[in-house]
Amino acid sequence: MGNMYGFDIGGTKIEFAVFNDKLEALYTQRAPTPRDDYTQFIQVLTEFIHTYDVKSNITGTVGIGLPGQQTPDGMTRCNNIPCIDGSYLQADLEKLLGRPIKIANDANCFALSEACEKNLIGASSVLALILGTGFGAGLVINGRLYAGHNGAGLEVGHTRLPWDAQELLGNDFPLVSCRCGRVGCLDHYLSGRGYADLYNQNHNTCQNHYISAEEITTRYYQGEPEAILHTNRYLELLATCISGFVSILDPEVIIFGGGLSNFNAIYDRLPALLDKHALNGSPPPLFEKLRLVIQEESEAPHY
Ligand SMILES: [Zn+2]
Repeated sequence: MGNMYGFDIGGTKIEFAVFNDKLEALYTQRAPTPRDDYTQFIQVLTEFIHTYDVKSNITGTVGIGLPGQQTPDGMTRCNNIPCIDGSYLQADLEKLLGRPIKIANDANCFALSEACEKNLIGASSVLALILGTGFGAGLVINGRLYAGHNGAGLEVGHTRLPWDAQELLGNDFPLVSCRCGRVGCLDHYLSGRGYADLYNQNHNTCQNHYISAEEITTRYYQGEPEAILHTNRYLELLATCISGFVSILDPEVIIFGGGLSNFNAIYDRLPALLDKHALNGSPPPLFEKLRLVIQEESEAPHY
């Protein structure tokens, strides 16, 4: 087997990595994502590949993870990166590079890669939830990815708030319009971005300084009452929504990724909160933190 090229494509940057057949990383490189210029976008990818092909004298295989989907007829849907939305990226790259190209949703790539880690091999089902720029999910059943009939399954970020959201988030919570055309999508409330946005909206009086999710979690541990109130509401909403997923899927393991997955309060408090919201008698899944490093802004598909 030769070298494998992996691309993790986000809304702001493209990460390129080369692996040998033992899955050891040989080389990594980054470039800003050309969001509005398809020709330039293709050029960035092909240049990385050609350069390493020449350097190693091996024609590597190519896999791409991006925040979108491939339709059954091969079209790429990705509103987060306008220049590739509606394109035939896979076919165009295959023509230019003379080899098969694999493209998959990044949340699915995350789920599959985590499920292949030593401690999770053999798990009957692994649900990966990304708390990053967006709120996304991937599901692996008996070692195989379940992406749905059209590759558009597990779009948890575009399911909507439960009826008791007002009680959980406070009476003054904003009902956010989503780019998918609907209102109240979980993406705006359960993502790391949503966690920070809601805090800033409700508790930040200095409009010139946006308080990041990381800073809010620090304030939570320092005992700031607003950060504690905000986090309590967030975790309660997260538990309510996850209890719905558990009722549908009953996964053996739930693994978290994305920037906010580093927040230990999630692992400390979620099992008890979930117990409160879950159907009587069902044992909770095992909660795990991501093991593999993924791009900070690796995120749910956006519309
Ligand atoms: Zn939506």
